[in-house]
Amino acid sequence: MVEPEAYRDLSFWHDTVPDDLAPRDPLPGDLDADVAIIGGGLTGLWTAYYLLERDPALSIVVLEKHIVGFGASGRNGGWCSALFPASTAALERRHGLDAALAMRRAMIATVDEVGRVTAAEGIDCDFVKGGTISYARTAVQRAAASAEVAEAARYGVDAIERRADGGSFDPACARLHPAKLVRGLARVLEAKGVRLFEGTEVLDFAPRSVRTTRGRVRCDTVVVATEGYGATMRQTHRRVLPLYSLMIATEPLPDAVWSELGIEHGQTFADFRHLIVYGQRTADNRFAFGGRGAGYHWGSRIHPSYDRSPAVFTHLQRALEQLFPAASPLTVTHRWGGPLGVPRDWHAGASYDPATGIASAGGYVGDGLSTTNLAGRTLADLITGRDTDLTALPWVGHRSPDWEPEPLRFIGANLGTLAMRIADTEERVTKRPSLAARIMGPLVGH
Ligand SMILES: Cc1cc2nc3c(=O)[nH]c(=O)nc-3n(C[C@H](O)[C@H](O)[C@H](O)COP(=O)(O)OP(=O)(O)OC[C@H]3O[C@@H](n4cnc5c(N)ncnc54)[C@H](O)[C@@H]3O)c2cc1C
Repeated sequence: MVEPEAYRDLSFWHDTVPDDLAPRDPLPGDLDADVAIIGGGLTGLWTAYYLLERDPALSIVVLEKHIVGFGASGRNGGWCSALFPASTAALERRHGLDAALAMRRAMIATVDEVGRVTAAEGIDCDFVKGGTISYARTAVQRAAASAEVAEAARYGVDAIERRADGGSFDPACARLHPAKLVRGLARVLEAKGVRLFEGTEVLDFAPRSVRTTRGRVRCDTVVVATEGYGATMRQTHRRVLPLYSLMIATEPLPDAVWSELGIEHGQTFADFRHLIVYGQRTADNRFAFGGRGAGYHWGSRIHPSYDRSPAVFTHLQRALEQLFPAASPLTVTHRWGGPLGVPRDWHAGASYDPATGIASAGGYVGDGLSTTNLAGRTLADLITGRDTDLTALPWVGHRSPDWEPEPLRFIGANLGTLAMRIADTEERVTKRPSLAARIMGPLVGH
């Protein structure tokens, strides 16, 4: 049994959430429910929330191995954005223009839906919709910004604009405190009668049955909501690849520094490099800043030691100080990370099979904070047999191919990260768009 205080070390967010993090009781033994949800992250909790809204009589249990918000939902960068892991152009190629635009509109509306529900339910999670600034520091990055703005204008759905400094601005993003959101949502659900069992590891699931370390749940519907951790379960082992994203948080900075940097409350920021970085100004005036670059681990292994990589933390601090020399040197107070879930084709999906009663959603890569909300509404419609605009979206029923067995998976995943690193160096040196990204990106699914 982990001491509640130990969960504080999971991230800056866990350290600052006004919650004692004491685990709720585990499953007390065998029981019956209408719906059993595997995983106490935002996919699972939003699904429970909207299921109850559709049918308040449903009995719902959530089965969580650690505590609610232990996974990516409690540790992320707090970008509640309209981003979807597959671009609009990729969605258009695969599903056609109308479907691609419907998906974009649904994602943009989802940012506001998270704001609406958190306000209505009194979940204080520092939600402020200030948009995303994407900086462009080189000619290559300015060209990428202009291509992004042109593409948005061509589709006519996203309101992305050019900034005077050559970067871009996307208004469809809110900054929030992820642990306050997921822990607050859990309390709302509990008050509505959802039973949350923590310290309960699911070992196996089958139609109408979930087997855990604490007993079995017989149910009509099983919702699989384990995202990157799906790699640790037999049935979903090759459906998703756990890729680590790591973050740092700094000491609070004076308001005057933020004014000089031109970052307002509620704003998030990034740039146009290939090996993604992302940041926000927190409600208490810190930088929370993250990025990819940590390696993939053989066999899709997940381990607490992988949450921390000194080399990646050093790279992140350097990248942040290069972006904001006026605020440097920066003092880092928190370092953490966690696994996100990558499907083989980088295309998230939400599905429900009425024959087996098994539903699932995930594969959001680094764009799950808002997408989990869309997943929750969509799964709720599918499970309660509704035919709606949401159930017609192109990600519904999408099945990504399985990842290759090892060693191909190991080689492919780590090659992908290496390719993005090489692409950034190449662009810095040649001052031209990277050939490595163009050639290797599609091969490794970027
Ligand atoms: C460092 C980091 C930064 C990120 N930044 C952003 C961002 O800024 N914006 C954005 O949109 N997305 C971001 N993401 C991605 C986003 O956080 C995820 O896509 C999203 O939270 C996924 O939610 P989920 O509920 O599907 O999965 P999770 O939150 O991972 O929840 C899965 C849960 O299942 C539990 N579980 C696992 N195995 C079992 C089992 N056998 N039995 C029972 N329970 C089990 C886990 O303990 C966990 O609580 C980031 C992710 C990381 C790691």
